[in-house]
Amino acid sequence: MELELHNQTLPFSSIRNENEEKRISKLISKCPNMRALHQIHAHILTHPLLPISTFLFSLSKLISFCSSSSHRNLNYAQKVFSQIPNPNIFVYNSMIKAHLNAQNPSPKPLFIFKSLISFNQTYPKLNEFTLSLVLKSCSVLSAFREGGQVHSCAIRNGFGSNEVVQSGLVNFYGKCEDMMCARKVFEEMTERNLVAWSSLISGYSKLGMFDDTLELFREMQMSGVVPDEVVMLSVVSACGVAGALDVGRWVHSYIDKNGIEKDVMLRTGLVNMYAKCGSISAAKEVFDAMPVKDTKAWSSMIVGFAIHGHAEDALRTFNLMEAAKVRPNNVTFVGVLLACAHGGLVSDGRKYWSTMLGYRIEPSIEHYGCMVDLLCRANHIEDAYAFVETMPVKPDSAIWRTLLVGCKRNKILEKGELVGEELLKLEPLNAENYTLIANLYASCFQWGKMSHVRKHMKDKGVKVTPGCTSIEVDGFVHEFVMGDWSHPEHKEIRKVLEDVRQRVQESGHEPWISAVLHNVGNEEKEDDLSAHSERLAIAYGLLKTRAPVVIRVVKNLRACEDCHEVTKIISKLYMREIIVRDRVRFHKFVNGSCSCGDFW
Ligand code: ZN
Ligand code: ZN
Repeated sequence: MELELHNQTLPFSSIRNENEEKRISKLISKCPNMRALHQIHAHILTHPLLPISTFLFSLSKLISFCSSSSHRNLNYAQKVFSQIPNPNIFVYNSMIKAHLNAQNPSPKPLFIFKSLISFNQTYPKLNEFTLSLVLKSCSVLSAFREGGQVHSCAIRNGFGSNEVVQSGLVNFYGKCEDMMCARKVFEEMTERNLVAWSSLISGYSKLGMFDDTLELFREMQMSGVVPDEVVMLSVVSACGVAGALDVGRWVHSYIDKNGIEKDVMLRTGLVNMYAKCGSISAAKEVFDAMPVKDTKAWSSMIVGFAIHGHAEDALRTFNLMEAAKVRPNNVTFVGVLLACAHGGLVSDGRKYWSTMLGYRIEPSIEHYGCMVDLLCRANHIEDAYAFVETMPVKPDSAIWRTLLVGCKRNKILEKGELVGEELLKLEPLNAENYTLIANLYASCFQWGKMSHVRKHMKDKGVKVTPGCTSIEVDGFVHEFVMGDWSHPEHKEIRKVLEDVRQRVQESGHEPWISAVLHNVGNEEKEDDLSAHSERLAIAYGLLKTRAPVVIRVVKNLRACEDCHEVTKIISKLYMREIIVRDRVRFHKFVNGSCSCGDFW
């Protein structure tokens, strides 16, 4: 399309500024490419009769055009902007938006905003969209201090109770994880729109605050604002983090009943939720029913199978993904390698490692971690150690911990000690590390060294993270902390624990060795092993549910040795399936054994 601009002959009298501006802005709306846009721009700059200030509206459209996702010509937008002698607020807003939507986020929007407010006499007055755009930029950049300044600027300029600005603020504070401030602005709003609700719920959900997320969601339902798929994704994710399967199922049926559109993201969220809540079959059902599966969807399913120890299913799904011509990404390969590790498939692991390189995916620390895990599980400790020594990225604490577990299991003292040293260099204040080192010594019967570790830890003043385990019963999540007897049904729980203790003891389990290990630095300080948080939660599950209901608990730390052993025994004696999600992985206890193969 060629644009005829200067050749048009218009009688002078008929030129009305407004009409000409309208005509130009229409041309921009229909503009097919950058070349045509240059022509329009040139026309404005060299207009024989009208000054550039007549075309401010068109120029702001021009800036939006060249910075849009299909053109991404930010340099040109900047050039247009710099040639305007007195830009109005619309032009400024377009320019701020152009920088905000750029592929690489930069603090440019904040600079423009700064210039706007510092010379407010000569510069145009800002409006609610300016503030909302700058707040968005602050959340992208995690510019917490600057966002706070924008907030006070908004109040000073009379936008304190403007709905657009307020929802922008809720979103900003939510993204910066300052839920106090987000909540405060939210409470002040007279009209709470979908954006505000969505931002607040998403903020709580990202922090894993299950109760708050759900409470807000209920409030939202009562307020009459209809939730969309974005809100539902936040609620679904919160259920996944909390491991609240019953509530998760309810939310899923709520989505279906209310006809909320299940886009690929929400469906993937459901797959993740079910997998994290320990119901891999429900995850698979959602996944199979997906009309479109993108990389994230496939990866979620593969990772889901992997963390549940279903190595074959994970690898089969990966093959289907390749057959469907969906390009795998780094997360996909974390799942694939994790699956190989869980399945003890060393040669498959090596094969998929080269497949990953074939896709030109640069291995990240997670991928290296999976390979070390894989080699250690298969008891190739020397290979694993050599692999760590030659890897091009610096091994992190998780990798050293995996190696340490491998050394402990194979009773390799000297290498284990070296690994322990590396681990303590990186994380000298993590109690879990001291426990692992002490366990290494115990496995090699080095009792003197073991008590030295204990003393060393005490001298360093290492703080122990309190263990906390939750279980969902009848839609409520009950949280148990070691030695906390504040639960209303504590008497009944004690009775169950006593029953468990007796029956486990009669089965021949001797807790004393693990008790010593425990004292070295796990969550528990006392010798009362039966008061460990996961035992309380499992006891509560035994009390409140009957077989074949699966007892599902979520623990904030790595599962401890004695609890792992006792849970295996409970699963056999009480004939209950127990699924424990600890900080690292899932453990499925059935009839006296665990899906992790005692490696974690
Ligand atoms: Zn324990
Ligand atoms: Zn296990």
